[in-house]
Amino acid sequence: MHEFSTAQQLVKTVLEVAESNQAKEVSEVEIDIGGLTHLSEEPLRFAFSIMAKGTLMEDAAIKIKYLPAILRCKKCRSEKKVNVEPSEMYGALVDFKCRGCGAREAEIDGDTSCIVKSIKVKK
Ligand SMILES: [Zn+2]
Repeated sequence: MHEFSTAQQLVKTVLEVAESNQAKEVSEVEIDIGGLTHLSEEPLRFAFSIMAKGTLMEDAAIKIKYLPAILRCKKCRSEKKVNVEPSEMYGALVDFKCRGCGAREAEIDGDTSCIVKSIKVKK
C-alpha cells in the first residue's frame, strides 16, 4: 500500500532527526502532502500509528496538511486551486466549469511530494 511505504519513509526521517538531536520524545510532526500524491488521510494516519509504535514518536501529534492541487482549463489555461482529499479529486475534475470561458474540460496539476515540514521534540 502506498500509504504504508510513505509513512515508513516519513517515520524514518523523523526518527533520524530526533536521534541526531538527542531527543527523548517527539511531541509533534507536521507533514505537508502534495495535492496529487493520492494519499488519503485515514489510511496514512493508521500507517503512522503502526510504524511509530515503540519508537520516540509513538505519542507524537501528527499534523497533516494537504497542499492544493490545480485544475487548469484546457481551453484558456486559467487555473483554479482545489483543496480536497485525493478521493474527491476526480469529482472536482468532473464538476469543473471554467470561470473565465465556461469550458468544462480541465487537467489536474500539482505537487506529488510528501514532506516532513517540522518536528518538535522533548529532550
Ligand atoms: Zn477557461
